Amino acid sequence: MLKLLLVIAVVWGVYHYFIKKKPLSSSHRDSQALEDNDMVQCSTCKIYVEVNEAILSNGKYYCSKECLRNAK
Ligand SMILES: [Zn+2]
Repeated sequence: MLKLLLVIAVVWGVYHYFIKKKPLSSSHRDSQALEDNDMVQCSTCKIYVEVNEAILSNGKYYCSKECLRNAK
């Protein structure tokens, strides 16, 4: 019986650890820098590119150097 309670306590702990962690990490992500495979919109032509391939300039993303040059 004691063993069963211990198992329940461990399962409960793990369950709540992940339940609590999930919303925390998602809100954490919103306020943090984007990840490499996140999509960002080009400020000039409006297509979406992966953030690690985008060019960041003045807080705006561009898909290519041409778009960066054509930025208004
Ligand atoms: Zn573009």
